[in-house]
Amino acid sequence: MPIVHKNNGKVKFEKTAGEKTAALHNLGCKVNAYETEALRELLEAEGYRIVPFTEAADVYVVNTCTVTNIADKKSRQMLRRARKLNPDAQIVAVGCYVDTAKSDLVESGICDIAIGNEDKNKLIGMLRSPAMHTRAFLKVQDGCEMFCAYCLIPYARGKSKSRDREEILEEVAGLARNGFQEFVLTGIHLSSYGKDTGDTLLSLVEAVDRIDGVKRIRLGSLEPRIITEAFCRGLSGIQSFCPHFHLSLQSGCISTLQRMNRHYTPEEYRASCELLRSFFTHPAITTDVITGFPGETEEEFAETVSFLKDLSLYEIHVFPYSRRSGTRAAKMEGQVPEETKKARSAVLLELTGRQAEAFREYYRGKEEEILLEECEVHDGIRYFTGYTKEYVKLAVAAEGREANTFARGIVGEELLYL
Ligand code: SF4
Repeated sequence: MPIVHKNNGKVKFEKTAGEKTAALHNLGCKVNAYETEALRELLEAEGYRIVPFTEAADVYVVNTCTVTNIADKKSRQMLRRARKLNPDAQIVAVGCYVDTAKSDLVESGICDIAIGNEDKNKLIGMLRSPAMHTRAFLKVQDGCEMFCAYCLIPYARGKSKSRDREEILEEVAGLARNGFQEFVLTGIHLSSYGKDTGDTLLSLVEAVDRIDGVKRIRLGSLEPRIITEAFCRGLSGIQSFCPHFHLSLQSGCISTLQRMNRHYTPEEYRASCELLRSFFTHPAITTDVITGFPGETEEEFAETVSFLKDLSLYEIHVFPYSRRSGTRAAKMEGQVPEETKKARSAVLLELTGRQAEAFREYYRGKEEEILLEECEVHDGIRYFTGYTKEYVKLAVAAEGREANTFARGIVGEELLYL
């Protein structure tokens, strides 16, 4: 039972040992309100006691909204408020704002878990995963000087700043002592890591790899131009390094990229992918693409589609362009109607569905290893699910196994696609 205090007439709850608490806040429409109720029920069923959003909790869930710029602002405010209430809590953003701003919410440290509308039912599984100390996210860099035309981050967060290397390594060592085995190094513009301190991302990965207990290292989003021969050669020699590269493309059309103020061409992007494929066997390359950027014509979009068809990446995260006031893109002529953005997104989602399936199928019959994270029940059988180094989700019968251990086996026999 929770302990209840009365303080100046206010009732205050305190946790009892071993108790888990959660607080929820809802923003936006009736659908959201209904879903927040459903999330509350899920959390209660998982043993969480629900506390008011004004109190310290282990988990804060903000069901966000993005209908206006004000809704965006409120969503961020509530996430920050949660962080202040308990800096050690898991801060979870779910819903519409996540769908539009996903790439920067976790990397910028605003929340620990970001779940889009489609995945709201995965909340419990995702909470279990951090509780099990499998994968740790470390922000090693902040700020950005790239000034993409659609993004406010360079104005909001200023110049690129790298975290102190020794401090990062100490944190990794501490997390590894606490059982974490997989480390994801992230940043707002991770490719800039070390430019202000004379360090390099490759050298940081090498140093993290030398720490006891570090079994896997992943990198957050990179820009294509960091992919040089020396970078690939260095990373391919690091045993714990996971060949999973998120290279933001945004558009496969050169004139759209120029309007976006992105500093590479589609051909440079292609060359980066080819280089990765020459150093790693079947690396996972994932990307972000914006549909309906101002001025994007049917022909320009068709160039992006044909570029992506040809390149065959593991996953394309598709974002319909969202107008942010204060950005250059917001003032551009040729704003694309919402229905067109939606239709173009649907084309890319269909393409990525097929390509992702082909990428995963490549592993059938091969021996792979997964780090066990979550439990799922299918047809009455309990399975552990986990990811390969290339971030392919597989499952293994849970009987006799424990979370946060590795399982090896043949894909399609011991390790299953669920
Ligand atoms: S690289 Fe572009 S999109 Fe990414 S944070 Fe910098 S300005 Fe924004």
